Amino acid sequence: MAKVGLREWLALAPVFASGKLARYSDETGGPLGRFEADFCAKFGVRHALTMSSGTGALISALIAAGVGPGDEVLVPAYTWIATAAAPLAAGAVPILVDVDQTLTMDPADILRKITPQTRAIIPVHMSNMVCNMDAIMRIAREHNLAVIEDACQAVGLRYKTKRVGTIGDFGAFSFNQFKNINCGEGGAVVTNDTRLFARARMYHDIGSMFRGHLDNANEPPMLGVNFKASQIQGAMLNVQLKRLDPMIARMRERYDVMSEILSKNKRLRIGPHNDIGNAAGLHVIFETSDDAKQFAEENKRGVYRLYDSSRHVYTNWQPVLQQRTGHPAMNPFLWTDRRIEYTPESCAQTLDILKRTCRISLGENYPVTLVAYMARRMARSTPPTAGSLFYATT
Ligand SMILES: *Cc1c(COP(=O)(O)O)cnc(C)c1O
Repeated sequence: MAKVGLREWLALAPVFASGKLARYSDETGGPLGRFEADFCAKFGVRHALTMSSGTGALISALIAAGVGPGDEVLVPAYTWIATAAAPLAAGAVPILVDVDQTLTMDPADILRKITPQTRAIIPVHMSNMVCNMDAIMRIAREHNLAVIEDACQAVGLRYKTKRVGTIGDFGAFSFNQFKNINCGEGGAVVTNDTRLFARARMYHDIGSMFRGHLDNANEPPMLGVNFKASQIQGAMLNVQLKRLDPMIARMRERYDVMSEILSKNKRLRIGPHNDIGNAAGLHVIFETSDDAKQFAEENKRGVYRLYDSSRHVYTNWQPVLQQRTGHPAMNPFLWTDRRIEYTPESCAQTLDILKRTCRISLGENYPVTLVAYMARRMARSTPPTAGSLFYATT
């Protein structure tokens, strides 16, 4: 998380003084326009649009891609509930896909979950761990599926040479207070497709009906909602964007230091990554759930077992599991060809992995010496029960 401080505070004063607080009150584009141009340049993508939230970005991307009633959208069983809720807001239903030990969508399970109704995949780059995008893009192209990357928890991370969010048809980002860069609440959608971008922009601004200056790529106006961001958010994000790459560099450095120390204890198995060269998230996988529990209890600060961060586990998404929407008739589960059912066993592989895995904070705002000290202490903590020796890191 990039800190918010004096520079953000100073950046807000000119916005207040100008009186141009709304997106379209500044005809030059204002701070939002500047942020979007810089974001496009930094991320190597053609179009970016700041929005009120990452959830809004996901929904706008789905609508722009033409996803709707009767469609199935693949989402991971381990993510923030917004990923599963977004297809429902577009009239489609989420289908849960297992994660593998990289804590991201298991491509093998994607193949098992595809049906003739599948229209899109939302791979989630979970807590700065990137998905296997090569495999996911290959499957998507073979089955003619739209790919909307949920990069809300991995803003700025790279998969091989590209920033996540710029590989699929769309990328969705969140700038809420707990994400890599933040303006309290906010989000963005990016795409290289001008027509899809025009559709997403129209949707996020009740059709952009009276914005004659916008290029809508000959798309007829369509109705939408209001997910617009304000210039206040733009001003903060301009400062935050400058903090992004230095912060990721600090994460990467601490990942290397900590993983090297921890791997000296042959009983601690460091979790795999889809792109180890860009790793900025550290997790250890144990043989049993009890071993993971014990490791988390002994280390406490900066360590938790993933299964215990319950809000990200599908078994706790009550309104999704119970298929409950605001109005009973506006329920996408009524509009599918087949009956969709979720049970606690829907994604048993995910539950098994989350129960045996601990996440270790990289402490990117702490000195490396302190982080190394904590890693040495962790590496010495009571070793897991016998049997975990099977997990020697060879
Ligand atoms: C935060 C988050 C979102 C939603 O972002 P908001 O800005 O809070 O709406 C979506 N998906 C994931 C994985 C997230 O972590």
